Amino acid sequence: MTRVVVLGAGVSGHTAALYLKKKLGRAHEVVVVSPNSKWNWIPSNIWVGVGRMSATKVVFPLAPIYRRTGIDFRQAKAVGILPEGDADDPRGAVDVVSTAPGTVGRTERIRYDYLINATGPKLNFAATPGLGPDGGFTASVCTPGHAVDAAGRLAATIEKLKAGIRQTLVIGVGHGSCTCEGAAFEYAFNVEHELRAAGVRDRADVLYLSNEHELGDFGVGGMTFSTRDGQVTSEKWMASLFRERGIRAIVQAAPTEIDADTITYRQIDGSTSTQHYDFAMLLPPFGGVGLTATDRAGVDITSKIFAPSGFMRVDADYRPRPFEEWTAADWPRTYQNPEYGNIFGVGIAFAPPHQISRPYATPDGLAIAAAPPRTGMPSGAMGKVVALTIADMILTGATVPTRSASMSEMAAACIASTGTGLFRGTAAAMAMSPIVPDYSKFPSTGRNAKETTGDIGLAAHWVKRMLHTAFIYKAKALPFWWLIPE
Ligand SMILES: Cc1cc2nc3c(=O)[nH]c(=O)nc-3n(C[C@H](O)[C@H](O)[C@H](O)COP(=O)(O)OP(=O)(O)OC[C@H]3O[C@@H](n4cnc5c(N)ncnc54)[C@H](O)[C@@H]3O)c2cc1C
Repeated sequence: MTRVVVLGAGVSGHTAALYLKKKLGRAHEVVVVSPNSKWNWIPSNIWVGVGRMSATKVVFPLAPIYRRTGIDFRQAKAVGILPEGDADDPRGAVDVVSTAPGTVGRTERIRYDYLINATGPKLNFAATPGLGPDGGFTASVCTPGHAVDAAGRLAATIEKLKAGIRQTLVIGVGHGSCTCEGAAFEYAFNVEHELRAAGVRDRADVLYLSNEHELGDFGVGGMTFSTRDGQVTSEKWMASLFRERGIRAIVQAAPTEIDADTITYRQIDGSTSTQHYDFAMLLPPFGGVGLTATDRAGVDITSKIFAPSGFMRVDADYRPRPFEEWTAADWPRTYQNPEYGNIFGVGIAFAPPHQISRPYATPDGLAIAAAPPRTGMPSGAMGKVVALTIADMILTGATVPTRSASMSEMAAACIASTGTGLFRGTAAAMAMSPIVPDYSKFPSTGRNAKETTGDIGLAAHWVKRMLHTAFIYKAKALPFWWLIPE
């Protein structure tokens, strides 16, 4: 019996585990290790964060799903990988620490034949002093708990506005190297929508603070959309949305320090500025979750398997080169670790080979560069192809990966909510193909002009709401779940 261990039960890990079990049946073991007992549909945390959805609607317990599907679930946190095993057993192993009630802190060494690292990001609030809700001053919507806290702070701000007290709300990123600007954009527009709904918009200043070089960059170097009115850049499209909603944007910015009511930030011209706030939601930068790796002799080989960021090295071209020399072909296709062929890294956990957006820095070298996003759609697709590759290796004896899903070939759709409500909601629907621009195939913009589109309206909000229901249905492994695409 072969054992596949999946670290992480988020979008990519949970998808991988479900496909593995579907393919492998009872003949082989699938073990999922994840510290949280619940699955979270993270995109809908935005609606929890404005008080329009309860946290219970974006989570469900994993154990019953895994019991029903025959997946062995360990509520635990992985801390170290032993790709060559130890003196007792040459199979690979992973050291985990239990987070389950009753056994918290208990350690276990789990052997594997194949390992998928889908541990997502470490939310690195410590990167900027004063950032984050736990020990800092700003709100976050990265977890359901953070989003509930953000909703409470927003409600208190709206109460002050109702009492006639002007308020400044700052939404964006909390560090120069952040990714996920799309989520900050969504939250800014949802907050603005709520302020209007509460009848207090005229007393509120809403600011968007971002490390993007220009609006609409989103860490993918921006997009050129085909719209009903012809081609338009995402920068122009976003600038018009921001103008329409009266949201002031500060871009090319890296927050460096935050206190109870002031954000200090630097910009790429080298200047330092301060911004007062009454309410702030700033996303943290992401890093790897800090797994270590050790060889059979007990020697630390973490740097062989993981990049300095903590993300896992996979089949990408990591050779350092100037930005102009990076190509779409540098991006990974199979997510296999080059050192150990039975280890794969998917979703946010794999190390991107380079920036997609041109990286900028202040004259004295402070990086202000939107990092490449790995959104839900590609994360799910990677989880699926790696699961199918491993199933092929186990069931047909394949010795090399049989499937691929490169972000430089994959299209992605992103529907960014700009306000919720059955009849008054809106969303910006953006599609790009491919995610990483490929100038060898599409010399002018790097992307297929017909398949890179942008549209905004109520219909897109309905699609976003339907996706919430569809993805939770799929994640619950309800009948025919595999028919719902990633
Ligand atoms: C506020 C917000 C809104 C977003 N909105 C959108 C959106 O609208 N559309 C979109 O496409 N994407 C969106 N994203 C991005 C999307 O959430 C990610 O692309 C997706 O979650 C990545 O999947 P993942 O499996 O790599 O990581 P995650 O989903 O974060 O899963 C990681 C898993 O690993 C577990 N884990 C962590 N450490 C360990 C450890 N040491 N050992 C074992 N397990 C561990 C975690 O508990 C979790 O289960 C949003 C992100 C945020 C923060």
